[in-house]
Amino acid sequence: MQNELLTELGRSLVSGSLTDVALLERTSAHPVVQILPEANVVKVGGQSFIDRGRAAVFPLIDEIVENLGRHQMIIGTGAGTRARHAYSVGIDLGMPTGVLSVLGTFVSMQNARMLHYLLAKHGIPFIEPAQFPQLPLYLEERGACIFFGMPPYTFWQQNPAVGRIPPHRTDTGCYLVSEVFGTRSMIFVKDEDGLYTADPKKEKHARFIPRITLGELAELDLQDVVVERAVLEMMANAENSRSIRIINGLKPGNLTRALAGEDVGTVITAD
Ligand code: ADP
Ligand code: MG
Repeated sequence: MQNELLTELGRSLVSGSLTDVALLERTSAHPVVQILPEANVVKVGGQSFIDRGRAAVFPLIDEIVENLGRHQMIIGTGAGTRARHAYSVGIDLGMPTGVLSVLGTFVSMQNARMLHYLLAKHGIPFIEPAQFPQLPLYLEERGACIFFGMPPYTFWQQNPAVGRIPPHRTDTGCYLVSEVFGTRSMIFVKDEDGLYTADPKKEKHARFIPRITLGELAELDLQDVVVERAVLEMMANAENSRSIRIINGLKPGNLTRALAGEDVGTVITAD
């Protein structure tokens, strides 16, 4: 390519090293595009939500249907207890993290399939990663679609710092969709009101935290948190998705309020 056709950055990238930090810094000069700024990613928990069966799932399905046409929803699913069982058998049989990641992917796919069949009569499609290019059309036409929350990198999943469980699971996969598409919001639907100072199932004096930054959260150094730690790590470098919301989907109306941008649950922000 002739040099005159390249921008100054283009010339540096073509001839320079992609591990040169000074050069890499210059690549963020332009803001990234928000590809789907009207869409909301809604992650429906596996263990915390779908595993509770109809008592939890049916009212949420109704609430999703009520919001069709009002808010665009990209609905991702967790995996939950069946994945944990698969992980335990896989670990027993000596499977590496990448294989455990494959197992978890199929369980989150089972949950996505079930939510899909519950929403099918409303014309909501289930999409696999290869169908994401059709996502904008489905959102425009039907207002929502369902996908499985695991990031699709299966065997290419990195090993965790501790143990063998895949560190990037369904919270992370959903979060990455909100980040890359620059969606309006990232809402995690779980079974607790949001983040507490400790797991409220184990510590009944745990204090609810309505709003917190990543910096404050790091300072608290909590023993356990309500979303995968990888999400918090990724948020620090986010271009678009610099805040997430965790809500209790067992309480009717919470999803509607969250979609409307009302203050419900916990908001964690990067700044
Ligand atoms: P999902 O079903 O989306 O995978 P998880 O079950 O993995 O969700 O995570 C949600 C659970 O995290 C909650 O049900 C809660 O019991 C637990 N949890 C652990 N630590 C905390 C905390 N600090 N605040 C709130 N919930 C917590
Ligand atoms: Mg989880």
